[in-house]
Amino acid sequence: MTSLRFYGGVNEIGGNKIFLKDKDTSIFLDFGMSLMAKKQYYSTPFLSPRNEKSLLEFRILPRIDGVYKFDESERSLDAVFLSHSHADHSAYISFLKRDIPVYCGETTATILKALSEVQLSRLESDMREIQFRTFRTGDKIQVDSIEVEPIHVDHSVPGAYGFIIHTSSGAIVYTGDFRLHGTKPEMTEEFIEKAKEASPLAVITESTNMTGAEISSEPEVRKKVDKVVKQAPGLVLVDFGKADIDRLASFYRVALENNRFLAVTMRQAYLLDRLSRDSKLKIPNLRGESVLIFQKAKKKYYKWETETLKLGNIVDAARVSKMQNKVIMVCSFYDFEELLEIKPVPESCYILSASEPFDEEMEIDFDRLINWLEYYGLPQYHIHVSGHIMPLQLKEALKEISPKTIFPIHGVHQELFGKFMASVGSEIPVIEKQREYTIE
Ligand SMILES: [Zn+2]
Ligand SMILES: [Zn+2]
Repeated sequence: MTSLRFYGGVNEIGGNKIFLKDKDTSIFLDFGMSLMAKKQYYSTPFLSPRNEKSLLEFRILPRIDGVYKFDESERSLDAVFLSHSHADHSAYISFLKRDIPVYCGETTATILKALSEVQLSRLESDMREIQFRTFRTGDKIQVDSIEVEPIHVDHSVPGAYGFIIHTSSGAIVYTGDFRLHGTKPEMTEEFIEKAKEASPLAVITESTNMTGAEISSEPEVRKKVDKVVKQAPGLVLVDFGKADIDRLASFYRVALENNRFLAVTMRQAYLLDRLSRDSKLKIPNLRGESVLIFQKAKKKYYKWETETLKLGNIVDAARVSKMQNKVIMVCSFYDFEELLEIKPVPESCYILSASEPFDEEMEIDFDRLINWLEYYGLPQYHIHVSGHIMPLQLKEALKEISPKTIFPIHGVHQELFGKFMASVGSEIPVIEKQREYTIE
């Protein structure tokens, strides 16, 4: 018998934790942080959970026997498969017993390790001693009665995969997060094709964009950014997901074409350095002429920061202040203190290049952000394209795959989804968290 149980990702964007049991084999597909649940009680970094007890208390971390490192009972799980490195899919492996193998793409492991090394608090991003087992498209991973086939998809972070899971009852497909309008739609197309060939019993699909579908593409984002940068006589500040390499490449290209430098944060530089070791990824060269690493003013630097400052050309607030029309500066909300020294000249502007109002990759404190922009006279442009597939394209894909059952997760509009997808002809249950669904 095969069954599914959803411990997260139900009526929320992200927090995916899908328990799949086949005969005596148990795996989780993703083990993410529920940002929406966490936001109800916490506001990082001002109010953060101290340990797992509070996360368990508020059900931000579900109670599951035999999976957590702080739980002395025997291990009850055979493996975890991560679709990609976004925190809402991966962060809570931090709490897992270390003898549970975690399967993921090479890039995902690199990003998770690098980001955990630069994190202030390790509670929710502790990757030490995790047994990462990396895969590539084409691999087939056998875990007792289950065989998992990872296939690359395009998403707003490199190294994203969907899965075809071959169980004793038949195939189950999990999309992870995916899209058809990014820079590599052919990867997603290949995944859909393979999913169709598997004639699956069930598809577990993301359903993020049911009410906020905006049609655009990465090249369009680049063109819009270029337009703003061309018109702006002052400093251009920008914020986007730190592991969104496609977006970084777009800003880098605009910087080159407009004779500006792209100043990245130290965290970003650290991550880029790690990712640049993968020859399959096109990462802007940190030592190249057009990239600068922004050195944040601090009394004391961590070891990783000192290392990072040796990776390329450094610039600080005083220097940026003197060359404002020559720089596009990546500036997260937590770097805003630097504006006091930079003193943006009139006609500078701020580009938010992430989703609004909710983003899986970063927490945005809008009220305070606007106050800062107001104080410095910086208009805000919103230039972004979603990491998630659009409704009509998703419908086409599901029609192609034509499974018996569709489980819509990673979204907050299950009923809308069910009505819109009715003509696909699949059963579409309204999912209840932690209920068991038998697959046959
Ligand atoms: Zn997600
Ligand atoms: Zn994602």
